[in-house]
Amino acid sequence: MSEQFDVVVIGGGPGGYVAAIRAAQLGLKTACVDAFIGKDGKPALGGTCLNVGCIPSKALLDSSRQFHNLTHSFKDHGITADNAKIDVGAMIARKDKIVKQFTGGITALFKGNKANPVTPIAGFATLKAGNVISIKGHDGKVAEISAKNVILAAGSVPIELPFAKFDNVRILDNAGALDVNAVPKRLGVIGAGVIGLELGSVWRRLGSEVTILEALPEFLGVADPDITKAAAREFKKQGLDIQLGAKVSKAEIKGEEVHLTYADASGEKTLVVDKLLVAVGRRAATAGLLDPSSGVKLDERGRVIVDEHCATGVAGVWAIGDCVRGPMLAHKASEEGIAVAELIAGLPGHVNLDTVPWVIYTEPEIAWVGKTEAECKAAEISYKVGTFPFAAIGRAVAMNEPAGLVKVIAHAETDRILGLHLCGANVSELVHEGVVAMEFHGSAEDLARICHAHPTLSEAVHEAALAVDKRAIHKAN
Ligand code: FAD
Ligand code: NAD
Repeated sequence: MSEQFDVVVIGGGPGGYVAAIRAAQLGLKTACVDAFIGKDGKPALGGTCLNVGCIPSKALLDSSRQFHNLTHSFKDHGITADNAKIDVGAMIARKDKIVKQFTGGITALFKGNKANPVTPIAGFATLKAGNVISIKGHDGKVAEISAKNVILAAGSVPIELPFAKFDNVRILDNAGALDVNAVPKRLGVIGAGVIGLELGSVWRRLGSEVTILEALPEFLGVADPDITKAAAREFKKQGLDIQLGAKVSKAEIKGEEVHLTYADASGEKTLVVDKLLVAVGRRAATAGLLDPSSGVKLDERGRVIVDEHCATGVAGVWAIGDCVRGPMLAHKASEEGIAVAELIAGLPGHVNLDTVPWVIYTEPEIAWVGKTEAECKAAEISYKVGTFPFAAIGRAVAMNEPAGLVKVIAHAETDRILGLHLCGANVSELVHEGVVAMEFHGSAEDLARICHAHPTLSEAVHEAALAVDKRAIHKAN
């Protein structure tokens, strides 16, 4: 007889491992199956996020930011340092150490719930009829377990272009771009999305000539155009060359170079680079996850079809995170994991997808929650807007970070906050002021009447809220 669990989670990323911990806290006998193999050749929990995504990319963004500040902005503070050098090997080793600390930490967290620890299982899982899970271990052996409830948290993988196959030597996916062992003289990037901008920034700050080819006429189309315009100005100053409307048709490896052919409004062009990062989006990692007998359905993009409670329609089978609809974000995956574990335990569990914040960790940072003006227009919602620039905020200027702005969008009649959009220093933290206000159905007036400490960057949020009603203090209305 196969071992029976209350809950088996397939996938140990921020969706899956968080779901497993919450299920165990609620007294459910829980296992978490994960197939990922770390850089050291051993199974590693944490999924994309901890191993090759959020955490390692932020480690490199921080290292490269320190170097860029040392070589570019310290002199404004009267600080000079001659012969600044970057040791890429040491930078990558620091990143790997951080990854190891956090992936190893999950094993400890699984054991940490002493009365009812989570059972980790290394291997690739396939769901069959009757909630039976077949697991192929890394030694090739196949075993079966079963569960009253199964949570599919298989995550996502990078999309590969047919003419630019990943070899992670010349043509890189996100994992490859996090492990380059010397600063490439010329880095090409296909896709000016989140990964292209973040990882392009890392290598640009270290001295690469970075060219980003974006097929669409604009970049970050999901963000507010006032915000992306402000960010684009800064990216240009940093030397990030973003080519819009650039359709790539060929990427040929010739010796140590990659030769790209692309077309834009002015005709066909070529670009020669030393490394090419392909960051054109991700797709749900559902290949091999479901035996046809499972009855679980996929949509046209290969994502598991779920309802608003992450239920698949097959009794006891749920799905969360990057392998279902909604934004591909670690915190969204984790919130869904908690909600599903609570629903399984008979508690109310819910995720409000309307208040999931986005953050892009470029310099300046970009962040938002809620609707853009375009989305308000499309939904025929009448709205009003207040904006405020960081250049008029004392703390931002004292920090030498005057770029960017805050924009509040509120309902024209009710004044309820519909969206908060930011570009500037530390806006990854400031955006949560909007998340909290929106979760409590707050109005622009509520934000405007809250006392904000001086001098802080948060005063820009306060002033933008005042500006909704044309009463900002430190700018003309
Ligand atoms: P994943 O993290 O992808 O985990 C899924 C796990 O399931 C993997 O370990 C996989 O090996 C395993 N698996 C898949 N199929 C099976 C199977 N059949 N059997 C067993 N195991 C299986 N998001 C943010 O919110 N903030 C960021 O700053 C951020 N930065 C990012 C940077 C990069 C470079 C990338 C690539 C992504 C980034 N993301 C970020 C996105 C974030 O990583 C994902 O949204 C998040 O990891 C999704 O979590 P998940 O649990 O759904 O899936
Ligand atoms: P993305 O969807 O953010 O951007 C892909 C870009 O590539 C788009 O602008 C698209 O128009 C462009 N593109 C697509 N095909 C192209 C082609 N053939 N030629 C040129 N351009 C092309 O995807 P991504 O950057 O790969 O990131 C995937 C997802 O990972 C993100 O959407 C996000 O959900 C997640 N992520 C989040 C963070 C964060 O939260 N800070 C960081 C990294 C990744």
